[in-house]
Amino acid sequence: MSKSASTFIAKSTVKAANLDHRRKINFNINKYNAVVPQAKLQFNDLMTAREQAKIIKWKAIENLGAMLEQFEKNISARGAKVIWAETAEEALTEIGKICKAKNCKTLVKSKSMVTEEIHLNKYLAKQGIESVETDLGEYIQQLDDEPPYHIVTPAMHKSKEDVAKLFAEKLGTPEGLSPQQLTLVAREKLRKKYVEAEVGVTGANFIIADTGSISVTENEGNGRLSCAFPKTHIVVTGIEKILPSLTDLSLFLPLLSTFGTGQKVTVYNTIISGPKQKNEADGPEEMYVILLDNGRTNLLANPKTREALYCIRCGACLNACPVYKNIGGHSYDTTYSGPIGSVITPHLKNLKEYKHLSYASSLCGNCTEVCPVRINLHELLLENRYEAVQEGDSGVAERVAWKMWKLSSLKRSMMNMSNGNTKSKVVNTLFKGWTKNRADLHFSEKTFNEMWKEKEKHKL
Ligand code: SF4
Repeated sequence: MSKSASTFIAKSTVKAANLDHRRKINFNINKYNAVVPQAKLQFNDLMTAREQAKIIKWKAIENLGAMLEQFEKNISARGAKVIWAETAEEALTEIGKICKAKNCKTLVKSKSMVTEEIHLNKYLAKQGIESVETDLGEYIQQLDDEPPYHIVTPAMHKSKEDVAKLFAEKLGTPEGLSPQQLTLVAREKLRKKYVEAEVGVTGANFIIADTGSISVTENEGNGRLSCAFPKTHIVVTGIEKILPSLTDLSLFLPLLSTFGTGQKVTVYNTIISGPKQKNEADGPEEMYVILLDNGRTNLLANPKTREALYCIRCGACLNACPVYKNIGGHSYDTTYSGPIGSVITPHLKNLKEYKHLSYASSLCGNCTEVCPVRINLHELLLENRYEAVQEGDSGVAERVAWKMWKLSSLKRSMMNMSNGNTKSKVVNTLFKGWTKNRADLHFSEKTFNEMWKEKEKHKL
């Protein structure tokens, strides 16, 4: 078993038994479940909208190289610099170079899972740069020295009481503050940082080929402040965020807000097409866009797993997943958790080390059911399992067990060879892993043949 697999099992075993954790998660996911159906009503024909979104993403991903080059050409024409990074290390080195050139001491950052993926904050801390998370949920997580718990709602596992306690401990605020008071405290702290910061970093919800723009969606205005106040704006984005045209946003923005947070439209939707232009008064003087691969082309290489690149990171599959709801986001110990995380992480990182995630599923298909871009998530989990077996990543006992199963399933005489007791003993011994957390399997005393013969006899 890989190190990541044992960590996953240990953490999820503890979390699954933590009733307080389950209560908080259920509370927050229930709030989400109450508003999503309302937001869905804004679509005349939701299924057609989802299918259309899937087709647009299919087109974008099938032509990924050309689309990205079109984006580069168009945004470069407006003064932005595009940097292609194959790995996390390359992206970090480029960010480090820009920060050094700008003599950066403080950097403000809006919520971005890609920067979590490359561990940007850790890297910046080593360079002596203070990186401040400006999204409230991320700010809470940074204060608590914890990674995000969920790709959309980073502090979903914390109650308002937990946050009030954290602020009192870390910021010295009076105990028991209300959510409004806590927000005002964070606001006051963060406003100063936007003014101080030399560099602002954002992600991108979408990158748009035909206009050379990036689209950033958020509810707090912190993304806008992070990219507009500092003199230098760095965008870090995965290459899969591409959309062919600006007009596609009219479909993707409401889909993202509906499935992500149950809003008709997110509060702030910003489209940025380069740094401040000659005739403009506001905005950064320089803009860099880092296009990150970091394993995404591994998903692209296989026509089956390629579909995972359609993901718009709405988080709906996490909220719908019975496994996620029990073990929570941190048990996965990966940047992307839940069903989509289990699908993409083995390809972004290492199949051997992370193949266990593909088994952390009941294969109920709820994730596929709720995905706005109709990614066949549960089938992709099966594809990962298939790939792992093809690469020889299955234990000897498992291989022997399945061989025996196949042999006996194809031959009735073998099935009839022993009685139920012997079969139960053999199967429960060979499938020890299965019975560790489940009741033993019990085979019927009589074989199917025997039962059939008896039935036929009674008919006479
Ligand atoms: S896979 Fe689908 S449901 Fe899950 S985060 Fe991505 S877009 Fe949302």
